[in-house]
Amino acid sequence: MSGASFILAINLFIAALFALAFLLVATTNRTDRVAGWFALAYVFGLAYVGSEFILPVQGDPRFAYTAGFAAFFGAMASVTIGIARRYRASVPYVLIGVVAVAGLAANWLAFELPRASQLRMFTYQLPFALMQGLAALVVLRSRRRQPMDLGLIALFSLSALQFLSKPLIALLTGGSGETAADYIVTTYALFSQSLGAVLQVATGLLMLMLLVRDMLVEITARSETDPLSGLLNRRGFEDRALAALAQSGSGGGPVSLVTCDLDSFKAINDSFGHDTGDEVIMAFARLLAEAPPPRAIISRIGGEEFAVLLPGTPLGTARLYAETIRAAFAALPIAALPQHMRCTASFGVAEYDRSGSLSDLRRRADAALYVSKRAGRDRVSVAADPALDAMPSHPLRNTSRSA
Ligand code: GH3
Ligand code: MG
Ligand code: MG
Repeated sequence: MSGASFILAINLFIAALFALAFLLVATTNRTDRVAGWFALAYVFGLAYVGSEFILPVQGDPRFAYTAGFAAFFGAMASVTIGIARRYRASVPYVLIGVVAVAGLAANWLAFELPRASQLRMFTYQLPFALMQGLAALVVLRSRRRQPMDLGLIALFSLSALQFLSKPLIALLTGGSGETAADYIVTTYALFSQSLGAVLQVATGLLMLMLLVRDMLVEITARSETDPLSGLLNRRGFEDRALAALAQSGSGGGPVSLVTCDLDSFKAINDSFGHDTGDEVIMAFARLLAEAPPPRAIISRIGGEEFAVLLPGTPLGTARLYAETIRAAFAALPIAALPQHMRCTASFGVAEYDRSGSLSDLRRRADAALYVSKRAGRDRVSVAADPALDAMPSHPLRNTSRSA
C-alpha cells in the first residue's frame, strides 16, 4: 500500500466519523438543518474517497473520474449551503447550480486532455475553490467576528487557495502520474491527500464545535426564558440580577427593584377560563417589554408575578416607572375580556443597599407589594430606606393611586 492510499484510507475513516457525528447532531436538533447539510457533505466525501479507490481499476475511467468530481463537489457545495444556513444568509442555490453544471460538463470534456495538463487540473480544482471561497465570503459578510468565525474564514480561504495551487504543486512535485493507477504512488498524491486530510479534520472539528456551541446557547436561552411571556424566568432573572448587583457594588450606581403581582387574578381565571388568564399575563408582559428602561432586567418570576430590576436607577425614578406601568395596565383593553373590563396590578419598589443580598432586596420589594395589596390593590408602594426599616411605625410608605 502506497503512502497516499494509506492516507486515502484514513480520509475514508475520518469522513465516516464526521458523517456520523453530524448525523447525531442532526437527529438531536431537528429544527435546524445545518447539521444535516454537514452530514451530507461527509457522505459525499465518503463517495469521493470511494471513487479514488475504484478509479485505477476502471477500464474506461472517464465516468468514475466525473463521478468522483461530482461527489467532491457535492461535499463542498453541502458545506457552503450548511454555512449559509448557519449564518442566516440566503443560500446561493443558483450560483451553486451553475458552477455544478459547468464543472461537470467541463470535467467530462477535460478528461480528453493529457493527465499532466494544467488546464485539466485547473478545471477539476476551480469549482471546489469557488465553493470554499463562497463559504468564506458568507462568514465574512455575516460580520460575526468571534474566534470560531475567524477560524472558519481562515480555514475556508486556506482550503480555496490549496485547491487553486494544486496544478502548480503537481508541476513542482513531478506530476500526478501518467495514468489513474499511477496517481496513487505519486508524491503529488501523498501531498494532496495529506493536506486534504488536515483541512478536512480542522474544518470538520470547527464546524462541529460551532454547532455544539449553538446548541448550548439555545438550550441555555430556553432554560432561562418563560415560554408564555417570552420574558426571562426566575433562573434567568437571578443570574442577571446577581451580576448587576455585583457591578453596582463595585461603583456601578444605584439599583432598584420593582415587583408586580396581578390583582385578583384567580377571579379572572375562574370567571373567564385559564386561556383568558394567559392572555392577561401576556398583555402585562408585553407592556413591560414594550419600552424597557435602559439595562432593565424584566422577568416573570412566577405565575402572575413579575420583577423588573433597574440598574443605574434610584428609588424615586423606579417608583415613577412602576407608576407608569400601573396606569398603563389599568387603562389597557384586553381583547379576550369583555369590552369595558380592565385588569390591574399592584407594585412594590425597593432600592438595593450595598450591604444586602438579592434576596434581601426582593424581600423588601415584596413587603412593599404586600402593603399595596392590603391598601386596596392597583397601587405602588415603596420600601423605606433599609436604615428606617428598624423603625416599626414607618417600615413602608405607600403612594396613592393618583401619586
Ligand atoms: P391578589 O390580588 O391577592 O394577588 O389575588 P390573586 O387572585 O391574583 O392571587 P393568587 O396568588 O391567589 O392567585 C394567583 C392565581 O394565578 C392562581 C393560579 O391559578 C393562577 N396562575 C398561576 N400561573 C398561571 C398561568 O400561567 N396561567 C393562568 N391562566 N393562571 C395562572
Ligand atoms: Mg400572586
Ligand atoms: Mg395576584
